[in-house]
Amino acid sequence: MKEIILCKYGEIALKGLNKSTFESMMVKTIKRRLASAGEFRVTKSQSTLYVEPLGEDPDVDEFENRLSKVFGIVKLCRSGAVEKDLGAICEKAPEYLAEVLENARTFKVNARRSDKKFPHKSPEICAELGGAILERFPHLEVDVHDPQVTVTVEVREDYAYVHSDPVDGAGGIPVGSSGRALLLLSGGIDSPVAGYMMARRGAVVEAIHFEAPPYTSDRARMKVETLAKLMTAYCGDVKFFCVPFTEIQELLRDNCPEELFTILMRRLMMEIAQRICEKDGDIQALVTGESLGQVASQTMYAMVCTDAACRMPVFRPCIGMDKSEIVEIARKIGTFETSILPYEDCCTVFTPKHPKTRPSLAEVEKAQASFDFEPYIQKAVEGTSVTLIKNR
Ligand code: ATP
Ligand code: MG
Repeated sequence: MKEIILCKYGEIALKGLNKSTFESMMVKTIKRRLASAGEFRVTKSQSTLYVEPLGEDPDVDEFENRLSKVFGIVKLCRSGAVEKDLGAICEKAPEYLAEVLENARTFKVNARRSDKKFPHKSPEICAELGGAILERFPHLEVDVHDPQVTVTVEVREDYAYVHSDPVDGAGGIPVGSSGRALLLLSGGIDSPVAGYMMARRGAVVEAIHFEAPPYTSDRARMKVETLAKLMTAYCGDVKFFCVPFTEIQELLRDNCPEELFTILMRRLMMEIAQRICEKDGDIQALVTGESLGQVASQTMYAMVCTDAACRMPVFRPCIGMDKSEIVEIARKIGTFETSILPYEDCCTVFTPKHPKTRPSLAEVEKAQASFDFEPYIQKAVEGTSVTLIKNR
């Protein structure tokens, strides 16, 4: 039977005039992300996007998997498309849903007619189809209050769509609908999650990484590139900026109080990230994976000192999350296993034994002013490499 995936969007359907812009963004994203999965058609109607895999024996699982990572889609219903005839529905629906129905004990049927011209009313469709299902699967019982499986028939313009319970989509709003951000991407668990969360709220996410060879190795950088690549399943293509940071870190170590090393390093990272944004011309904010109180450099005092070096807004979507919650998302989006590979990060290279948890802005600024970092900042910006990390 012809299979079509119905993609339903929740929140964006409410956005009035923006709705069609949002729909177009999702269609564009779907076209890009699914392109290499095979031929397909995508159309929109009644707050639903219809994705129809075409050709001989399409890999519908793969289409569904990729669609489950497109932000803006709230529910996915992989459906059998049946001609709009009650007899055909009763014959084909039990067959199409045989596997789920065989494994269930209770079910109910739910019918929706967005085509009001269809000659049978919803209760009639439910009764007829329910009967047909019971005939074919006599072990089943109807339970209208708490069924294990709900069989839904949606009679729409072109077909009657038959499906069992929908699966969750990625939620959020379409990538591209809320600006462009630069994510400070380390090799850790938190920053990929932060990028995912910003993309989920519509941001286009680019990534910047600071490396300190030879203290950090090629494989440490490759690990970060892998993380960026994994993020593309949700975020789309990611521009990856890699900053040579060794010299600045050595200068910090040699010229500044050890207890302020981390905070000064973070301020200099922010400064360089902002210069990259200014050069690029169209990035509105920075993003980090910080979570309040997680480590010494993530106290509110430390963040005040970091933000004082920022002319751009800094978003920290993990700020109120526990590590376990961040880990849960990292597992869900598939970055966790890569993040925990034990390669060194530039931050850990010169980590002070006793970082100050309550630095004052005055002492931090004074320490930073005691050395002229400007030429080294410029050099780092000039030496930054850019690569486009593609989704496929
Ligand atoms: P993560 O798990 O994201 O590495 P973390 O708990 O290790 O976070 P820190 O090392 O203090 O925390 O880093 C805090 C944030 O600073 C990171 O989430 C990331 O946004 C940014 N950051 C740290 N190191 C780097 C780096 N080498 N390159 C780019 N950004 C970095
Ligand atoms: Mg880290």
